[in-house]
Formats: sequence, structure tokens, C-alpha cells
Amino acid sequence: GVVYPDLVVVGAGLFGLTVAQQAVERAGVRVRIIDVRDHIGGNAYSYMDEETGAEIHRYGAHLFHTSNRRVWEYVNRFTEFTGYVHRVYATHDGEVYPLPINLGTINQFFRAHYTPAEARALIEEQAGELAGTDPANLNDKGIQLIGRPLYEAFIKNYTGKQWQTDPAELPASIIRRLPVRFNYDNRYFRDTWEGLPRDGYTAWFERMIDDPRITVSLKTDFFDESQPYSRRALREAGVPVVYTGPVDRYFDYELGDLKWRTVDFKEVRYDEGDHFGCPVMNFSDADVPYTRAIEFKNFNPERREQQNPERTVVWEEYSRFAERGDEPYYPINTEADKALYARYEALAATEPRTVFGGRLGTYQYYDMHQVIDAALTAFDERILPLIAK
Ligand code: FAD
Ligand code: UDP
Repeated sequence: GVVYPDLVVVGAGLFGLTVAQQAVERAGVRVRIIDVRDHIGGNAYSYMDEETGAEIHRYGAHLFHTSNRRVWEYVNRFTEFTGYVHRVYATHDGEVYPLPINLGTINQFFRAHYTPAEARALIEEQAGELAGTDPANLNDKGIQLIGRPLYEAFIKNYTGKQWQTDPAELPASIIRRLPVRFNYDNRYFRDTWEGLPRDGYTAWFERMIDDPRITVSLKTDFFDESQPYSRRALREAGVPVVYTGPVDRYFDYELGDLKWRTVDFKEVRYDEGDHFGCPVMNFSDADVPYTRAIEFKNFNPERREQQNPERTVVWEEYSRFAERGDEPYYPINTEADKALYARYEALAATEPRTVFGGRLGTYQYYDMHQVIDAALTAFDERILPLIAK
């Protein structure tokens, strides 16, 4: 028969890798990680493109940023970070503007040379039509934040493409991180630290689990009972499990499906060294069917010498509702979804010797730094007690 490890981690994403690393370092146990995919890293996985020398992020662009000192110190044990600072541009009505909406965007849009105070007064006046209300929906919130002209130019159609939902039906929280700035600062993130892993994401993740007590089984589905680490086999053997797959799948969707959005990527290659001149170009208008295009080479300007000066690769992003079998990317999180998740969470709490974690296991939109933080906390509070000898 099989000799079971002390802990099985389902999912080799950042939650699972962090848990496995901690289990070995802090408890000295043996861990088996399984993943249904053919690689580790979960959605943050990337690979090198031979032709262009670009590092392609297979499940969409991933930029690391955090203000959490514990997480920053932790990740720096496994990789160095480049000096990359995330900046985004947007094409609207035949012109390119800087994002997030800042004084540069405003002055270009209104063909003006407003000072910060003048721009602030203008936006306040334009936002005035909804002043004093407390808009819970994205449409009203957007107009209140930046006024109708800028909202209609940069938010309305982009949001429509991304969510296929009338912005008046969407929660305002979606655009909380896109505020207007009354200066020329166009850094996308406000966090203390940001950067990209110097040798790529995969090298980072491999170093996290570089220990003989951690073994990995790829192309292994937790629900496939013909393999030794299945839900049923581990339950019968009483082996502790950390599960980072979809929580509704774990319970065979018995309460219904949690709703997600997915993204389809369309790859385009150009006979030129640099197509956009930046890593991310958003398309604000409805006539371009994709939301944004990612030019991966431009995330790593420090690798210019190793990149092909004559070819580049771009991924266009098309957003849509996910069906079962699609990659679930963004939890939709309507009130109905939240209520459904609460019922699954209650079921999960009754599952013996199993800890649910990560974005799929807890139906949460997590950035990488948040998922690492959540994994470190879950390890201390719930996983260590399960595996401590
Ligand atoms: P995942 O990475 O999803 O890992 C879960 C793993 O479980 C997967 O590998 C999956 O194959 C495996 N699994 C599922 N079911 C089974 C099963 N039955 N059997 C075996 N294995 C199974 N974060 C940032 O910080 N910055 C960004 O710029 C950023 N951009 C993003 C862009 C997109 C399009 C998306 C979708 C996410 C982005 N994120 C970003 C978030 C980031 O991807 C997550 O925070 C992180 O990947 C979550 O890690 P996780 O371990 O919870 O889940
Ligand atoms: N958004 C927008 N126009 C843009 C960029 C973003 O309207 O050019 C809105 C949109 O509603 C989107 C939200 O802001 O869903 C968050 O966008 P961001 O790019 O920060 O997040 P991501 O799509 O990467 O999760």
C-alpha cells in the first residue's frame, strides 16, 4: 500500500506552496503536493517564450506588490525582485492617455493646463450632479469620483467589456482602487514594495519547495479515485489535507455553483521589437472587443540583451462569465454568491482534518501578497495544530 505523508496539499498555487514550505520548516513533516495541472505556481505560473525571450504569464499578467512587511520579508527569502514599477496606459478615441486618471490624463482630455487645485474644482463641479448621495453602485460611484465626462471615457465601456453587466448593477468596490490623482503620479499601485521576480516566477516557486521532504505529483486530480491522494482515500486514511481547489467542487456542487468570470487570451505576434512601448495597454472604448493587451517583453526591460529585437508577443484579454470547466478567475460576488459561499463555508467547517484555503477554496479575490499572508496565518492557527506530532 501507499505510505502516506503527514500532510497532503491540494493545489500548487501560492497558498499551497506557502503551507508546504511552512510545514517542513516549522514542523519537520513530510508533505505531498498534488496539482491537476502540469506545473506548479497555480495562476501565477509563467514560462519563457523561446522566440521573443518574453516571460509569458500563462493565466494573465501578474505584478507583485505589497505593503505587508511579513510577506515582503518572506518572499525575499526565495527570490530577488527587479525594480519594475507598474504603469498602465489607455487608448481612447484615437489617443493614448496615462492611467490611473491623473492630472496628465485630465489635462490631455480637456486640452488644458489645470493646476491641481483647478482640476480638483472642475471635477468637483462635474461630479456635483450626484453630490451628497452615497452611491453603492459602480456607475454612480464612478461619476461621483471623477465626473461624467471622464467616467464615460475611461470607465464605463471598459467596465462593460470586463463585466458584461450594467455598471449600475455592479458594486462600487470594484473601482475603489482606481481613484483620481491631482498630480502627475501614474504609478498604478500605492504599495510600499513592488517588483517582478528576477529569475521569473517559476524559479521563485521552485525554491520555496526545494526540500526532499516535499514531493509533488502533477496532473493529479484530487477527485480521481484511481490515484492514491484522492479525497476518498485520504479521508479513509485520516491524512490531514489542505485543499485549495474550488469549495463548491469539493462538495460536488450540492448547494449550487459559485459564479466566476474568466478571461480568454488571444496571442498575437508582431514583426517588430516593441509594439506598444509599454507592458499594458487598456482599450477604453467599446469598438475594440478586448479589454487590454499585455506585451510581456516590456515587463522585463532588464532582460533586453536576451530578448529578440525583431519580434514581440502580445496577449489580448477577452473577459466573460465562466462556465463549469473554464478557469475561474474573478469571483463575481453578488449578494446571492456571498450567501451561497457562507453555506459552503459552514459545510467546510464540519469537514474533518481538512483546511480550505486560497482564492478557490474560500471564494475570495486575493492578490498574491494577500494569499501568502492568509496562508501564513492559516498555517499558525489551523494547520500546525493538525500536523503537530
Ligand atoms: P491558485 O493559484 O488558483 O492555485 C490553486 C491550484 O489548485 C491550481 O494550480 C489548480 O490547478 C489546483 N487545483 C484545483 N483543483 C484541483 C484538484 N481537483 N486537484 C488538484 N489540484 C487542483 N495577484 C497579484 O498579486 N498581482 C497581480 O497582478 C495579479 N494578477 C492576476 C491576474 C489574473 C487574471 C488573475 C486570475 C489573478 C491575478 N492575481 C494577481 C491573483 C493571483 O493569481 C492569486 O492571488 C494567486 O494565484 C492565488 O493563489 P492560490 O494558491 O489561492 O490559487
Ligand atoms: N477599470 C476601468 N478602466 C480601466 C481600468 C480599470 O474602468 O482602464 C475598472 C474596471 O471596472 C475594472 C476595475 O477598474 O474591473 C479594476 O481594474 P484593475 O485593472 O485595477 O484590476 P484587474 O482587472 O487587473 O483585476
